Amino acid sequence: MRLLTADYIYPVSAAPMRGAYLLIDDDGTVLDLLRDTIDVSVDIKPEYHHGLICPGFVNAHCHLELSFLKSKITEGRGLAAFIKELVPARRASEEEIFNAAKDADAEMIANGIVMVGDISNNDSSVEIKKASRIHYHSFIEIYDLNPDKAFESFDAGIKLWKKFKAEGLSASISPHASYSVSAKLLKLIGDFAYENDSLLSIHNQESSGENDMFINGTGGFVEELNKISGAYTNWKATGFRSLPSVFVHLPKCNKIEFVHNTYSTKDDVRWAHLYNLFVWWCICPNANMYIENRLPDLEMFRNEVAKICIGTDSYASNKSLSVLDELKCIQMQYNNIPTHELIQWATRNGADFFGLQKQFGSFEKGKRPGINVIANVNSETQALSDSSYVIPLI
Ligand SMILES: [Zn+2]
Repeated sequence: MRLLTADYIYPVSAAPMRGAYLLIDDDGTVLDLLRDTIDVSVDIKPEYHHGLICPGFVNAHCHLELSFLKSKITEGRGLAAFIKELVPARRASEEEIFNAAKDADAEMIANGIVMVGDISNNDSSVEIKKASRIHYHSFIEIYDLNPDKAFESFDAGIKLWKKFKAEGLSASISPHASYSVSAKLLKLIGDFAYENDSLLSIHNQESSGENDMFINGTGGFVEELNKISGAYTNWKATGFRSLPSVFVHLPKCNKIEFVHNTYSTKDDVRWAHLYNLFVWWCICPNANMYIENRLPDLEMFRNEVAKICIGTDSYASNKSLSVLDELKCIQMQYNNIPTHELIQWATRNGADFFGLQKQFGSFEKGKRPGINVIANVNSETQALSDSSYVIPLI
């Protein structure tokens, strides 16, 4: 057993506690959360940590298999330019892809991440995920704009999904983005998710051009996409923004995370909440800054009582795979959002989305959520600073 204490403990299931104690088993299972050592019936010397203690982080969006792209894609040129560079850059040897993904997995463990929702287009991450201490859920991602190829693309996705399942890994099938999946393919994915009661994820409103192409059928983004793949010659607008245009083809009662949401508006969020009760909004701040140099309207999301979770995205669009770095990026621009709220986004909200709230996300008896110390926080307000860092205790 270990007795941990710090300036503050953030149980997440309750308000932050000053000078409290966390009693854990050797394997990290929470035995008790105590306001005072007097409550402790066993005689253990407390371990004091400067800073705050919170549960392990849930990284709700990553692409482990893209880790080899670190520092290879130019920053700040918008989504279309990013995709244009990404497509040819994805060619690399199996060894290079595997080694970079393995390092990324180790880095996430060192950064206090205990659970990851990871996008997979192939099986290169299977062995890493099987061996890792991190609990992974893999979104087998499918995309194809040609409706005539919908069955073919879907079948390839099912084949990959079966590979992951056969290895005992948690996995579900998901569409890539509004602009890369035909309505026919969306329907196949949606029906499969409904039948299997499985999790959905989709990249959403990462650029303003994504909305333009659905509303008007024109704009720089669709033109650039057409230059890259030639598949957008017959692109037809729906007359609506991208989110409702694709969401109508997906089930109303499956959990879904919209990822990025850089250009989502109050109307998008309200529409999504009316359509489906089980919507989470995954924010990847550093990737948004890397690609579009802009963050989503987080005040709006808070006002709409949206369930926000945090993702790092991949090394193609990020300089680290650290949930804490994402929180620091948010607080740099939104210094009114308190640290305890950010920690909730980074822990319990993600755990709730993945249905792993019995293990992860908060300090409650019987859970084994991982334990992080966040050092170098403001001693009065616990605000994060550039120099804040994470030490995983278990
Ligand atoms: Zn992504």
